[in-house]
Amino acid sequence: MNPSRFSETLQRHGLELTRGTTTTLQINVGLACNLACRHCHLEAGPDRREAMSPETVEAVIACAARLNFSAIDITGGAPELLPSLPRLIEGLAPLTPKLIVRTNLAALMRPDTVTLPVVYRKHNVTLSASLPAVNSTQTEAQRGSGTWDASIEILKKLNGLGYGLEGSGLQLDLVCNPTGAFLPAPQGQAEKKFRQDLKRRYAVSFNRLYTFANVPLGRFRDWLERSGNLEAYLAKLEKSFNTCTLPGLMCRSLISVDWDGFLYDCDFNLATGLHHGGRRLHISELSELPPAGTPIPVSDHCFACTAGSGFT
Ligand code: SF4
Repeated sequence: MNPSRFSETLQRHGLELTRGTTTTLQINVGLACNLACRHCHLEAGPDRREAMSPETVEAVIACAARLNFSAIDITGGAPELLPSLPRLIEGLAPLTPKLIVRTNLAALMRPDTVTLPVVYRKHNVTLSASLPAVNSTQTEAQRGSGTWDASIEILKKLNGLGYGLEGSGLQLDLVCNPTGAFLPAPQGQAEKKFRQDLKRRYAVSFNRLYTFANVPLGRFRDWLERSGNLEAYLAKLEKSFNTCTLPGLMCRSLISVDWDGFLYDCDFNLATGLHHGGRRLHISELSELPPAGTPIPVSDHCFACTAGSGFT
């Protein structure tokens, strides 16, 4: 196999990508989602059936009990659609100082998920809520009709429970990503705009906002191809390669487990089948944290993480 352009770029700079200290377990519970967002690198959606089994849920909890993670991050698909999510939260919350659940907000509108925010509050779960933009037009272009009002309604409900309010200790962060083939606005600037607009128009509060570049995989890659933007977007990411992003890349400190229990170095390598350690390793076999210096498999999608100020 030819080396990727990303490997060549690292080589040109005399760099390699290896693990630092592993601190975080990321859990991808499956590809079922209430939405089918245009930028989704996993092509999650309502027609996907892949979901973590109760046995794998227990294997993940057992791994978190034998190893020491300072943060555990639950993602999907929409984690809310996994029937075992409350069991996963209850099992993991005592094992880590920081338990994060990612949500698209609209997933909390369903009759079968409506009580989950109370479970989150009970276990002091940090919520990381995706909201692509601070207006309905751009949000619904990416996520579908009705998603803006649903997101605002859920944000208000979470604020009502204390989430995102100063002094409550209940963390509500927002995550936004561009709605087209361009890099995100600087994080500080975007956070200021989201804070002002959500407060003024909806009396909604949150803690922090994180901006992510869209990764050219899955449905976003298909959209780039169909719209004739693929080559230009890839070139833009490559041209924006910034060596300063390397120390903070999430793959240096995180290990990611897929819905079937197999391990990767990040959710993007998971999407492309690039296994942690270059082989299929099940979480039940993970007896110690991967040592610092372990090489990380890379490919051209890595340019999305190293463009501009990058993301971690
Ligand atoms: S996609 Fe990003 S996080 Fe994943 S291995 Fe590449 S640089 Fe690291």
